[in-house]
Amino acid sequence: MMQLIADRKDIDFVLHEQFELSQLSRHEKFSDFNKTVIDMIVNEARNLAIKEILPTNSIGDKTGCSYENGRVTMPSEFKAAWYQLEKGEWFAPAQAPEWGGQGIPETLNVATQNYLFGANLSLLMVAGLNHAAGKIIETFGSDRQKKYYLKNLYSGKWSGTMVLTEAESGSNLGDLTTSATKNEDGTYCLSGNKIFISGGDHDMTENIVHLVLARIEGAPKGSRGISLFVAPKFLVNDDGSLSEQNDIVCTGIEEKMGLHGSPTCSMALGSRGKCIGTLIGKENKGLSIMFLMMNKARLMVGSQALSCASSAYLYALDYARNRIQGSVPGESGKKSIAIIQHPDIRRILLTMKMYTEGIRSLLCYIANLEDKKKLTENVADKVRYQNLIDILIPVAKGYVTDRALDVCNMAVQIFGGYGYTTEFPVEQLLRDVRITTIYEGTNGIQAMDLLGRKLFHRKKELYKNLIDEIDITLNRAKATPALEQMAQTLDNALTKLEQVVNKIDPALQDQDVLLSYAFASPFLEVTGDIVMAWMLLWRATIAQDRIENKPRKKELDFYAGQIKSAQFFIGSILPVTLGKMASIITFDGAAIEISDTSFGGK
Ligand SMILES: Cc1cc2nc3c(=O)[nH]c(=O)nc-3n(C[C@H](O)[C@H](O)[C@H](O)COP(=O)(O)OP(=O)(O)OC[C@H]3O[C@@H](n4cnc5c(N)ncnc54)[C@H](O)[C@@H]3O)c2cc1C
Repeated sequence: MMQLIADRKDIDFVLHEQFELSQLSRHEKFSDFNKTVIDMIVNEARNLAIKEILPTNSIGDKTGCSYENGRVTMPSEFKAAWYQLEKGEWFAPAQAPEWGGQGIPETLNVATQNYLFGANLSLLMVAGLNHAAGKIIETFGSDRQKKYYLKNLYSGKWSGTMVLTEAESGSNLGDLTTSATKNEDGTYCLSGNKIFISGGDHDMTENIVHLVLARIEGAPKGSRGISLFVAPKFLVNDDGSLSEQNDIVCTGIEEKMGLHGSPTCSMALGSRGKCIGTLIGKENKGLSIMFLMMNKARLMVGSQALSCASSAYLYALDYARNRIQGSVPGESGKKSIAIIQHPDIRRILLTMKMYTEGIRSLLCYIANLEDKKKLTENVADKVRYQNLIDILIPVAKGYVTDRALDVCNMAVQIFGGYGYTTEFPVEQLLRDVRITTIYEGTNGIQAMDLLGRKLFHRKKELYKNLIDEIDITLNRAKATPALEQMAQTLDNALTKLEQVVNKIDPALQDQDVLLSYAFASPFLEVTGDIVMAWMLLWRATIAQDRIENKPRKKELDFYAGQIKSAQFFIGSILPVTLGKMASIITFDGAAIEISDTSFGGK
């Protein structure tokens, strides 16, 4: 079967037609990134992903990683793929060249991630932690920490981890108990047990840089008493060479539903009393540092989910074009047809297409805001871009991963019984994508973040900024006769969303706070639907413009497909969204009122 990850035409459309990325090259910071260079970088990512990395994906799934005596062994093919990533400088492409990055725009980074994550999510999620750990050290680390760790992380010579979760401290990191005791030389001795640590041990790099959350002795209880430390697997000498092994060891790996090529490790810190760590940033500021890095990490998880969805869609499309089964409805017994001809399959395929495309636009939009924020000197613009990023991140993580899971599930359905077998890649995609709704803050936590922290923040400033952005697309679409009706429908949905917000607002302030949170996930879902409709309508306005200029057949097909995606979402999904909004407004209290014992089961 062909190896499929992402639709290049669609990536080009988003980069060049929706976000006009080469315009960034007018600014000195991105002056190298004209259209030719952008296309070249996407080509490189695509070639590397398809030729070198994708063949390792099912090997990782079937062989997995193995654990013995504190050591994790990866499939040998992964080491070769890691080396290719290192050679191509793919570990931190958007970071500063002085520290080993390539300085590419975030928008382009997200677009290339679609290929790389899609080629082997297990491997690339471990590799993605290099960037996350490096970014924390770059932003908050001391000169010494930067000197020893940063280039090694951004280059992929060493790897990075996030060591946060404990058995009794998952969503609520404020409960963690791993302790840190200060030594005379200013370092700390760490002691505790962590679970679920991605890449906690492996044999792809000579050292692993662990970023550990722990509580310094005497620190306040709860989230205000947590500090962040760097504790490498091998300690580092003053000249940068490796010293003895640190007392942080892997005690086992999880057997998981998916992501078999990614070692999810239990870690023991300080079982010999010698786990040495150095503080990053200030004492007791560990969680604030993590919060500051959260947007990027959550956007990355959205990107992982998109990669699975986009791959699942292309595999399902290819299969539907080739699988012959049944005949045209009403013509039973006549010529058998490809299943893509069946109305039900077409409906599923269009649903998959529209989510995949809408999600791709949304993630690139958020990345583009990061780029624009970096370039502008105007403080008000910087604040507005940050507001938009902040309110959209729960959507980019929570809504996006839920929809990506739906898309992968639909792919299995299109393959019929074969979709349930290991013969085709869609069952692995469905298993792999499942974790994206859980880690980096479960989707329930994302929903609470949107409702509790973002929606009513600064008198709804973030929300108003979002509505203003949607209005720009609405006004453009209303001025385009072919799209006017769709624009009006979305406008009506926005009015309804406002009613929902007005219902939740007073409820959150008084005794209905529990009830409000019972509707946090439905609220995230309707907000996500509105954002999807906006992205798809935005795409349609561009496509309609191009159609009016009579493009060639292949281009016309692509642009006509954009109009159909928007038409389908706004015509068939938004009415359901309106129903969901009506259900939120009823504020039915059953979920809160039901007693624990009335749930039954005993
Ligand atoms: C494959 C994998 C890789 C991982 N990688 C890492 C890693 O590299 N580093 C790391 O530190 N951790 C990692 N994790 C851990 C992951 O981040 C946690 O599993 C996740 O944060 C959820 O914590 P938990 O499993 O303890 O679930 P819990 O916190 O027990 O949550 C259980 C359920 O209760 C809900 N819930 C919990 N609290 C609330 C609340 N206040 N309000 C409403 N609902 C709530 C949750 O949404 C969830 O549905 C990984 C996990 C897996 C499975």
